[in-house]
Amino acid sequence: MFEKILIANRGEIALRVLRACRELGVKTVVVHSEADREAKYVRLADESVCIGPASPRDSYLNMPALISAAEVTDAEAIHPGYGFLSENADFAERVEKSGFVFIGPRPESIRTMGDKVSAKQAMIAAGVPVVPGSGGALPDDPKEIQRIASEVGYPVIIKAAGGGGGRGMRVVYTEAALLNAVAMTRTEAGAAFNNPEVYLEKFLENPRHIEIQVLADGEGKAVWLGERDCSMQRRHQKIIEEAPAPGIDRALVERIGERCAEACRQMRYRGAGTFEFLYENGEFFFIEMNTRIQVEHTITEMITGIDLVQQQLRIAAGEKFTLRQRDIHLHGHAIECRINAEDPYKFTPSPGQISNWHTPGGPGVRMDSHVFTGYTVPPYYDSMIAKLITYGDDRHQAIMRMDIALSEMIVEGVHTNIPLHRELMQDARFVEGGTSIHYLEHKLAARA
Ligand code: ADP
Repeated sequence: MFEKILIANRGEIALRVLRACRELGVKTVVVHSEADREAKYVRLADESVCIGPASPRDSYLNMPALISAAEVTDAEAIHPGYGFLSENADFAERVEKSGFVFIGPRPESIRTMGDKVSAKQAMIAAGVPVVPGSGGALPDDPKEIQRIASEVGYPVIIKAAGGGGGRGMRVVYTEAALLNAVAMTRTEAGAAFNNPEVYLEKFLENPRHIEIQVLADGEGKAVWLGERDCSMQRRHQKIIEEAPAPGIDRALVERIGERCAEACRQMRYRGAGTFEFLYENGEFFFIEMNTRIQVEHTITEMITGIDLVQQQLRIAAGEKFTLRQRDIHLHGHAIECRINAEDPYKFTPSPGQISNWHTPGGPGVRMDSHVFTGYTVPPYYDSMIAKLITYGDDRHQAIMRMDIALSEMIVEGVHTNIPLHRELMQDARFVEGGTSIHYLEHKLAARA
């Protein structure tokens, strides 16, 4: 195991990685911007390095500053967390070229999966079902584009190969709108992602978002750790996640999970990863792979009893991979609510000082948060301030515990989306289970 690692992130995930390190006896260096100087994890870490001003470009995205922080502190490895540089293949490469271990996949894997066209091709090769579509980048010939679209069948969605974060996509319902939409997406993709390549796929009208967690050792061993349902979204941002996904045939989930593990074996994938799917009418369709730890990894930890962050560290340190598929069992049900500092109805960010912070507890309640009374939520970063996770023997108990935990939680000084979460825990359709990715938007629109 490593003696000392550097945590190249902030907020709750910096604290989460720090806790995993402490349990493994690994010393930690956390980096922070000038705005995060007062953070709790900065005080808990063995060492800390200020890497620049508040703006992410000058701090958490500043590769030379991060690498020199690792050099001056003698860290052996760098954990990128999620967001920021976690899926940047150039960063992973620079980390390794500078003589540090990147706690994540090989740069080539990040690159392949970061390009949606090559990711889809890798999945087809591994026998993972994908959304029917152009099978590669769209050609220039307008007649050919029209032919592909009518073969796939309308509605279709035009997507940028280099897209991410819900950007660079356009839905087309008729042939009349097709060529213009392709041209517009190409122009936007060229400007935003420096890659004008676009592809086309069938637009699924009412899917759920279901994803599979994997762990792999980079040498051809891999396991999958159940699925998560992340359909409760607003503007492609997940707000509630749960595991397992309610109401889906277990034999089908098992077949898909095994395909994902097999794809990892074939790619010699290393570390933690997530295969994201859209699920509609009893079928799974791959949309993308995330080559990092995810925000919602916690619910998988609750139902498997496996610490995913520690596993990332063990794999990166080259320890023998001892997890076997037959040892992975799912128990009970877990739900995560992302607590954001924002207006619960208008969704405008609500940074500022937290004058009172009281967190819930009791059986089956987990709180992952870097916040405390007196903490100031900076305006420069993501608005998520906590993840509240509950576990129950079954879904009903997990929902009950979440509703109670939310009712106990007190946050004063900033607005949060706790009222929205409480409303959803009592929402008849959510309680029934299996709502689509459009459910929350429709509910909010109906209320407005
Ligand atoms: P990003 O990398 O930008 O998050 P994704 O490919 O993961 O892009 O897609 C983001 C979201 O867009 C999905 O969660 C889904 O809501 C929607 N989406 C993407 N592809 C399709 C599709 N073929 N049909 C319907 N919705 C889609």
